Amino acid sequence: MLISLIVPCYNEQEALPIFYREVRKVLAGMDISSEILFVDDGSRDETLRILKEIAAGDEAVTYISFSRNFGKEAAMYAGFCNAKGDYVAVMDADMQDPPSLLPEMLSMLQSGEYDSVATRRVTRKGEPKIRSWFARRFYQIINRISDADIVDGARDFRLMKKSMVDAIVKMGEYNRFSKGIFGWIGFQTYWLPYENVSRVAGETKWNFWKLLKYAIDGVINFSQVPLSVASWFGMFMTFVSFLAIALIVVRKLLFGDPVDGWASTICVITLIGGIQLFCMGIMGQYIAKTYMEVKQRPHYIVSESNRRELEKVK
Ligand code: UDP
Ligand code: MG
Repeated sequence: MLISLIVPCYNEQEALPIFYREVRKVLAGMDISSEILFVDDGSRDETLRILKEIAAGDEAVTYISFSRNFGKEAAMYAGFCNAKGDYVAVMDADMQDPPSLLPEMLSMLQSGEYDSVATRRVTRKGEPKIRSWFARRFYQIINRISDADIVDGARDFRLMKKSMVDAIVKMGEYNRFSKGIFGWIGFQTYWLPYENVSRVAGETKWNFWKLLKYAIDGVINFSQVPLSVASWFGMFMTFVSFLAIALIVVRKLLFGDPVDGWASTICVITLIGGIQLFCMGIMGQYIAKTYMEVKQRPHYIVSESNRRELEKVK
C-alpha cells in the first residue's frame, strides 16, 4: 500500500523545510510506504531550489515545476494526474493542514466504511472578521443554488481512495473549483473537524478581491441559477411595466391627466438599461467560461521535474 501526498507550493521558501521535516516525522510513524509530490506553481523565490535539495536526499520525493504560476487548482490537478498512491492526500505547504491528522485519517479509510476523509475548520480564529462573514454567506448561498454539496469551513485537505482520485482526474474541466468537484463526484466522506491553525511562515496568497472572484467562480461553475435569475428578473420587469402602462392609459382617459416628467422617464430608462446590462453581464460570465473550456488549453505546463515519465503538458 502506498500513500501519496500532493503539496502545491507557491513562494513557500520559509514554510517548506518545516513542512517537510514534520511530514517525514509523521510518515515515519505510519505503517505504509509513501511518496510526496511537490508541485512548484511557478514560484519566484527559492522554492524550486529547496525542492531539488529535498528530492536529492529522498527517493520518495517528486517535484513538478510549472513554467509559470497556474494557480492552486492547476497544481492540485497536476498532483492528482501523477499520484500513484492507493491513498492520496492534498496538503498545503504552510502547515495549516496539520500532518499530525494523517494517521487518524488513514486508519479511518482503512476501516473501509468511507472513501475519503475531509477536514473542516470549526473555528476561523486568526482570520479577519469581515472575511469570515463573507465566507459564511458564500456557503449559505452556494449550497442553496448548486447541486454540489459544499461544506462550510471545508479545506482542500483530504485523504482519498484511488477510485475517488480517478473520478477527479476524469473531471477535466478547465475552470476548476475543487470544493465543488469533491462534492459533485459524491462518495462517502467523513468530515473531520479541527481548530484553525495559522500559517507557520510566509504570507497568504489571497486578498479580499481574489477571494470574491473565487466565490463568484464557484457559483458560476456549479450553478445555473444566476441565469434563471436573469430571466425571472426580466419577466418581473415586463409585468411591472404592463401595470404602469395600464395605469397611465386609464389616468389619461378618465382624468385627461397628461403624463409629465422628464425626470421619471430618464429614471425608468436608466433603470431598465441597468438591469439589462446586469443580466447580460451574468450571461457574459457563463459565455466566458464556455469560451475557455472550448479552447481546451492545457491546465498546466511543466518546465522541470525529477520524474521523466511525467506528462509535461496536461
Ligand atoms: N498555492 C499555489 N498556487 C497559488 C497560490 C497558492 O500552489 O497560486 C498554494 C500555497 O503555496 C499553499 C496553498 O496553495 O500551499 C494554500 O495557499 P495559501 O496558504 O496562500 O491560502 P490560504 O491557506 O490562506 O487559504
Ligand atoms: Mg494557508
